[in-house]
Amino acid sequence: MDLNQEWDPIKMAESSTTFCAMPWAHQYINMDGKIKACCIYQTMLGDLKQHTLKEIWNSDQTKTLRLKMLKGEKPIGCKMCTSRTDINLPSMADDSNDWLFDVHPNDPSNSVKYDVRKLIASTDETGHVEEHRLYYMDTRFNNLCNLSCRTCNSEFSTSWIADSKKLKEMRNIPIRDTRDILTFSGKYETDAFEQIKPHLNYANKIYFAGGEPMMQEDHYNVLKELISLGRKNIELRYNTNLSRLKLGENDVIELWKNFKRVEISASLDANHERAEYWRKGTKWNLVVDNIQRIKREVPHVNTFIMCSVGWPNAFNALELHKEWVELGYIDLSNFIINFVDGPSFYSLRSLPDWKKQIVKEKYLEHVEWIKSHTEYNERVVSTFMVTIDLMMRPSIYQTDKLLTHYFTKETEKLDLIRGEDFWKVFPEHADLKEYMELDENK
Ligand code: SF4
Repeated sequence: MDLNQEWDPIKMAESSTTFCAMPWAHQYINMDGKIKACCIYQTMLGDLKQHTLKEIWNSDQTKTLRLKMLKGEKPIGCKMCTSRTDINLPSMADDSNDWLFDVHPNDPSNSVKYDVRKLIASTDETGHVEEHRLYYMDTRFNNLCNLSCRTCNSEFSTSWIADSKKLKEMRNIPIRDTRDILTFSGKYETDAFEQIKPHLNYANKIYFAGGEPMMQEDHYNVLKELISLGRKNIELRYNTNLSRLKLGENDVIELWKNFKRVEISASLDANHERAEYWRKGTKWNLVVDNIQRIKREVPHVNTFIMCSVGWPNAFNALELHKEWVELGYIDLSNFIINFVDGPSFYSLRSLPDWKKQIVKEKYLEHVEWIKSHTEYNERVVSTFMVTIDLMMRPSIYQTDKLLTHYFTKETEKLDLIRGEDFWKVFPEHADLKEYMELDENK
């Protein structure tokens, strides 16, 4: 900092290329208590098992992060954003600034960004911000989940714990993380809820994810608290597996009737039998009952499919999209692809080139199907085109070994544990099975 330069955090933020408003408006709470600047932040700012949210708001790590952002330096934890900015791709920081900081001519004077700008303006030269206010909340209360999806592990789902232990017993080197307890974010089970409660008075947006948020008692407690505060206009966002809408006496549909802005990203990667295999514990008929109930009783709830696509479900994902659009469960454009990169043996990048070509052709056909409608938007086209692009990039993996060794071994073991058979459920990959067998016998 030039000593002659006046300390003006707003001016510094406006001219910094690495500025992001998150550390002035948000504290991400992971289910193990790690506090981060956001859910994709790669280091930590504190630990809720040892300190309070208020203490971590001005921890050395948080203050250093704020200063780096104001000075245009690249924080290590923000690699996911800075690496995208470096190649001119939009980042989560762009979205956050658009919503929390950048002033546009049509912004209402009571918009949240004016409150956040006040906090930024109050930053002192050590990075300290006196007032502790969370305008955005993403709190993972615990890792309770009723499914054990193939791409997940026991860190994020208690339903994975038993299979993780069996996998560990079956091999010497565990690929997956093995945890054997329910984890929760605070010093005790309700600690995180008690600490975020005062901020519900002014929070602008809350994101619920898990684990599975519909299994978390404190998710319902947050909604009930918001209702008692009369906060009908708050924005509620969800990432849910859509397999349940109730917990005990709590019925989320009844609670949602009190809120005007609710958006669901349903984690669905396949339909019918394939869904039940890929996300173990899924009962497809219950998922259908649940989306039908949402459409019938709370039609204002905006539902997206957030589809994690790896090669096993690559073709079926397209069928899922078509089916749910044709049944009227989602709008054509409400489909987002999350490109699976891990475990790497499920990634589209691990495919041999000839199979990538087949996937590419199917995806281009699907884009034509989307474009045959009048009401699509470019974002949904882009989600499929970006998937093709990511798949076709030069692989960073040892392709053959990934499929023939890691995929085959992991799948054989999990199928044995779960009494399933991948090749029967996904016959569309018979060509790949043949390829793997040939390759293994070389
Ligand atoms: S720059 Fe990106 S990674 Fe860093 S806090 Fe903002 S959104 Fe998170």
